[in-house]
This record gives sequence, C-alpha cells and structure tokens, in this order.
Amino acid sequence: MERKDYKLNSRILGVVSYSVRGGELVEALKVRALPEGSDDYDALVEFLKLYRDAVQFVVNNLWSLNEVPSIKTLHMMFYNELRKHSFRAHHVKQIYVYAKAVVRACKRNGGRKPVLRRLTARIDRYDYRLDLESRMLILKIHNGREVKLRLLTSTERIEKYKEWSNYEIAVKVVEDEVYVSVYFRRAVEPRRTRTIMTIDVNFDNATLAVFALSGELLKLKRYKTPLRRMLTHRIWIERIQRRYSRSWRFIRGVRRAIKRHGERIRSIAWDSAHKIGDRVAKIANEHSSAIVLEDLGNLRNNVNRSSNFNKKLSLWFYRKMLFTIGYEALERGLAVRYVDPSKTSSTCPKCGSKLEDSGSRVLKCTRCGFTGDRDVIACINLFYRYSRCGGLGVPLNAPKPDENPSEMRGKEMRQ
Ligand SMILES: [Zn+2]
Repeated sequence: MERKDYKLNSRILGVVSYSVRGGELVEALKVRALPEGSDDYDALVEFLKLYRDAVQFVVNNLWSLNEVPSIKTLHMMFYNELRKHSFRAHHVKQIYVYAKAVVRACKRNGGRKPVLRRLTARIDRYDYRLDLESRMLILKIHNGREVKLRLLTSTERIEKYKEWSNYEIAVKVVEDEVYVSVYFRRAVEPRRTRTIMTIDVNFDNATLAVFALSGELLKLKRYKTPLRRMLTHRIWIERIQRRYSRSWRFIRGVRRAIKRHGERIRSIAWDSAHKIGDRVAKIANEHSSAIVLEDLGNLRNNVNRSSNFNKKLSLWFYRKMLFTIGYEALERGLAVRYVDPSKTSSTCPKCGSKLEDSGSRVLKCTRCGFTGDRDVIACINLFYRYSRCGGLGVPLNAPKPDENPSEMRGKEMRQ
C-alpha cells in the first residue's frame, strides 16, 4: 500500500498533517488546551516528566545495543520495570515504541545519544476519553489519576470530525501552555479509476490534462500560478533591505514593512494553492481520475543547494499546491500517484528525442516533426511515464494529430 505523509501548516485547510494508511485518511488536529481542575496542570507536568524520564531510560538501555530489538523483546525487557513506576499498561507500550523511534532516528543520522528535554507524550485511545460535543478531553495518567483538559477550538473546526474516529493523541507542554494533537481517521472508499489526470507545474502555469485509459486526451486546462505576484513582494522586500542596508533590522517601522510583504507572499500562496487544488479536485472528481503528480523529492534536494530564489519560491509554492490537490483528491477517494518529472518538458512524447525550443513555449522535435506546447507536452509525458511504470496495463498510442496540443494555447485555457 502506498503511504505518504504530508506535513505543512495549512491555515486554510485547518489541517496540520494528513496521510493515507491502508485506505484510511488520517488527520491531525492541533489545538491549545486548558486544564480544568486546579491541580490538573501540575499533575500533567509531573506525568510528562515521568514519561520523558521513562523514555530516556529505555533509550539509554537501547543505545549500546547493536540492533534495536523488536517491540516484543522490548516488552519483555521493560514492561515490568516501567509498570513499577505507576504507569498504565498502554503508557508503557507507547513509551518503548517512542524510545525505539528516537534511537532509530538518531542512529540513522549518525548522532550522539539523545537527551530528551521536551515534555511530550503520545497516548493511545485506551488512556483518554474525548467528547467532541463539549470539547473535553480526559487523560488517564499515572497513579490512576485523571486530568481534564478543555480544547480551545471552534465548533466549526471540530464539526467535520464528528463522523471520524480518533485513536491517538499527543500532549505537550511548551512554555507553560498545553497543546493537544488529536489523530482522527476515516475510511475512504476508493473510487474506480476511469481516467488519468496529470498536472505539470512551472513558474507561470499549472497545466492539467485528463486522458482516457486508452491515451486519448479528454480535457486540458491551464491555471496561472501566483508566482509573479509573489515575486513583486519579494522585490519590495529586497528594495527596502537595500535602502536601509545597515539599519533595517533595528528600525521597527522598516521591519514591520518587511514582515507585511512576507505575510502577503504567504497568503497569496495559500489562497492560490487552495483555489487551484479545489478546482483540480473537482475536475478529477467529475472524470473519476487517478491524479498523477510530480514527485518533487529529488527536485527539493537540488533546489535547496541552489541559490536561485525563483526556484526556491516556485518549489515552496508547488509543495503547497500539491499538498492541497493531494488532500482534496484523497478526501474524495481518488488515487494520487507520484512520478519522476525529470525531462518531461524536453522529451518528444512520440519518439523520445530531445525537443528543441522554437519560441513562445512551443517545442519541436527535429526527428519526427512533433510540435507542441511545452506544458501540454509535459502532461503527456507524465501520463506515459505513469502508464509505463505499471500504472496501466494497456498499450498506449501517442496522441492523434487532431489532438496536437500546440493549438491549445491562449486565453480560453486560462482562468
Ligand atoms: Zn519526435
């Protein structure tokens, strides 16, 4: 089963992260919480300290071992010891699962033995009760105690989760504030794929193409990205920084102006990502499409090394857009797949030769004469790449001449 995790801060979706595991959509809702009883806060902090020390104890014991033992072995090694410290049975299990993950991550990164400082705990569904109606969370902590927490969130935000189940929460205390992440999940009925939608993104446009399983092109649509608009704010920031090159950090008004442009960039990006994601998902829904997106994994590594600001900005925006598209699609039970996008906008979809630029984004193949719009060619290549990599079990033909995408440029495609 394909599994991917997405972690972004999305104000608009109100979703911190989502993932798909075995046909289930998992979402984390992160909110601040207020302890209800007068000594609930102190009891919670005491529990989190005990919990952290217990995780550290397990980490210390695992660190010198050559191999991280299985959960079953960990159970035999630590269960009785940890139960003596007044933890509940399921706390103990969470403690060594967490310790194991910490040790794994640190060893993989070649780091030193970790020293845990943060006050955070994962608690599974046997050790808490959550009432969404009253937004009240009751935690079962050590020594048979309970702590009552009121979740500070609006009814609208929590409304959508009434039909979902929740199975785990994370509690943490940061600077005297309590935060709770609730992990909700919902089974998603997978839809039967009838068409394939591919999406190509570049600096100016996001282009979407819907193909029948036979390879026939059914629909093309182009959306303008907001990157140029975002860039103008960036230019303003640079201009201000140049003008006050020595002092901008120290003058409050200047700092504030810079901050405002930064906020504008972020809000343009989210608004646009959400709008495009929504429209794309609607079209995919109408066509029962599997959505093929560019896997930006490799791109990210290359771009982070480059100093090209435009590239960084585009990548940042693409990730937001792909996040919303992916989310909207998965919510509707549509499949989302990722393919390697390298060279998709420079290879001839007919014969595989390298294409040449003949101006205004039109590409031409010198070997077979194929001509087409760069973005549409990228969409076609994404489709081939997906179908060849086992996405489809049917042989495919190149697009017919009347579907030659070179004519499909211009205003009618823009939105
Ligand atoms: Zn060719």
